[in-house]
Amino acid sequence: MSELHIITAPSLYLVGGQVVYGDEFQQFLDDHDNPDWLSTTSKPSEMLPEIGGRLCYMSFKKPRPGGNAAYIRHILESGHGSVLEHAVFSFIITGVSRSLTHEIIRHRAGLSPSQLSQRYVDESDVAFVLPPALVPNWAAWKVIEAARADGVKDLDDLPEWNRSVTFTAWREHVVHARNRYSWLSDAISSEMDHVADATARRKAAREAARSVLPNCTETKIMLTGNARAWRNVIEQRGAAGADAEIRRLAFALLGVLQVEAPALFGDYEVKTNEDGVDWIDTPYRKV
Ligand SMILES: Cc1cc2nc3c(=O)[nH]c(=O)nc-3n(C[C@H](O)[C@H](O)[C@H](O)COP(=O)(O)OP(=O)(O)OC[C@H]3O[C@@H](n4cnc5c(N)ncnc54)[C@H](O)[C@@H]3O)c2cc1C
Repeated sequence: MSELHIITAPSLYLVGGQVVYGDEFQQFLDDHDNPDWLSTTSKPSEMLPEIGGRLCYMSFKKPRPGGNAAYIRHILESGHGSVLEHAVFSFIITGVSRSLTHEIIRHRAGLSPSQLSQRYVDESDVAFVLPPALVPNWAAWKVIEAARADGVKDLDDLPEWNRSVTFTAWREHVVHARNRYSWLSDAISSEMDHVADATARRKAAREAARSVLPNCTETKIMLTGNARAWRNVIEQRGAAGADAEIRRLAFALLGVLQVEAPALFGDYEVKTNEDGVDWIDTPYRKV
C-alpha cells in the first residue's frame, strides 16, 4: 500500500468557457441597423451577458459611457441577474472531500456536476482531505503552505509542523479506514468468485467497501455553472458561518473568477469578522 496522502487545499482547473461567434453576431448587428456597436471587453463571459441585456431594449445604438464594466455593474445594481446566466464557466476541482461535494451539489439552479465514481474507481490508495480545524494554529498553516509551494505533497513529510492531538487521532482513523476498505474490497471480490463478469464483481466489491470510507475521503468533481449560479455559491459558501473547507473553496473560486471575468465578480470584497474569520461580501447579493 502506498504512503498516506493528506490534502491541505483544493486544486482548481478552469477547463471551459465560451466563445462569441463574431461573424454571426455582426450579421445580427448589420441586420438590425447597428453595424458599429463594439463591446469594450474581449472576454466572451463578460460580453454575452451584455449582448443579452442590450438585446432586451435594443440599446446597441447609443450606449451609455463606461463600457462593458459599467453596463454589468448596472445589471448587478438593478438585480437583473438573469442575463448573467449567459456566461458559463467549467471547473474541474480536486482535493476536496466527499462532505464538501455533498454540500455543493445542493446548488440546484444552473450548476451541473460530474463526480468521480466510487463504484468504478478503486479507492485503495485514496487521499484524505484534512479538515481545516485540525491544524492547530496559523504557524502550522504557514509551514504547510510553504511546503506545498515547494512541491511537498504529503503532510507526513513535514516533521517540523506542530501536530495536534486531534490531528494524530484523525490520522489514525483514516489509515484504519483505508486499510479496512482494501480488506473489504478484496474479501468481497473473492467471495464473488462465482460471478463471471469481472467488472460486475469489482463494482459490487467497491460499492460495498466504500461504505467504510469517511466523509473526508478525497474526490474529484467537474462543475459547470453560469455566472449567476457561481455568484450564489460564492455568497453562501463564502459566508463566515459556512463549513471551513467549502469556505476555502469559495475563496479559491472567487480568486479565479475575479481574474477571468472582473466585470462579473469584481464587486466582491473579503472582510474579516470579530473572530478573525474571513468572509465574502458584496452590496449586490443574490442578483
Ligand atoms: C451555512 C450553510 C448551512 C447549511 N446547512 C444545511 C443543513 O443543515 N441541511 C440542509 O439540508 N441544507 C443546508 N444548507 C444548504 C442550503 O439549505 C441550500 O440547499 C444550499 O445552500 C443551496 O442554496 P439555494 O437553494 O439558494 O441554491 P440553488 O439550489 O442553486 O438555488 C438558487 C436559487 O434558485 C431558487 N430556487 C432553486 N430551486 C427552487 C425551487 N425548487 N423553488 C423555488 N425557487 C428555487 C432560489 O431562489 C434559490 O436561492 C446549508 C447551506 C449553508 C450555506
